[in-house]
Amino acid sequence: MKDIRYLSINGIYKAIEGEGVNLGRPQIFVRVQGCNVRCKNCDSCSTWSFSSGSVMSLDEIVATVVSLAEEKIGWVSVTGGDPLDHAHVGSVVHLIYLLKERGFKINIEVTGQEINNEIFDLVDYISADFKTPSSGVVSSLSNLKQLSEKFLGKFQIKSIVEDRGDFDYLVNSYQTFKNSGKDILFQWVITPAYMPNEEFPRERFTSIVEWNLEVGYFLVIGQQHKWIYGPNRSNV
Ligand code: SF4
Repeated sequence: MKDIRYLSINGIYKAIEGEGVNLGRPQIFVRVQGCNVRCKNCDSCSTWSFSSGSVMSLDEIVATVVSLAEEKIGWVSVTGGDPLDHAHVGSVVHLIYLLKERGFKINIEVTGQEINNEIFDLVDYISADFKTPSSGVVSSLSNLKQLSEKFLGKFQIKSIVEDRGDFDYLVNSYQTFKNSGKDILFQWVITPAYMPNEEFPRERFTSIVEWNLEVGYFLVIGQQHKWIYGPNRSNV
């Protein structure tokens, strides 16, 4: 049985939030190592393996966060990999308790494939994916419904859009959700895909902006860190 005093870590670093509604916010990122979701358009494949990364004790992780934050940065983003994978989730719960005890506010970035009420109650913000066809992964509207019912006001949905097929899929999902009698009172963010080694995807970006102006459903927010540092640099 896994020892929940330890967690496999891909990296811990200081950076501003590069995407979504909290764009630009200084944070300490705790990137968990290991993800079984395997999206085709994943831009952090180095986080997939469960046998690489550094195994750190939760005390070491907290000490690293505290040292990087220097009492100036108040937010920690727990990301992955997949922090809610069953291999990690017990340790992640304890890590969040320890970081909260130190006064940090916690954002968690999740794949959207799982709802974890204990963690979602604990954290200050949830950033959940709703996957599009280009990822090869199917997301569930019932998870979206649960988030909307239980955590309204403290989550965003993020969807990577590579092409018109992805966009139309999101429009259809949005309308299906709405037609089920649910108001959409949360922020649904489209992140235009920006693939490894790609030049700035201006054409894709402008197309998505124009498609969204036709429906008005989504926030279109790019990945700022990739404009600044290029698409291949990690831990920024
Ligand atoms: S869930 Fe995230 S880390 Fe895992 S494969 Fe998909 S994009 Fe990559």
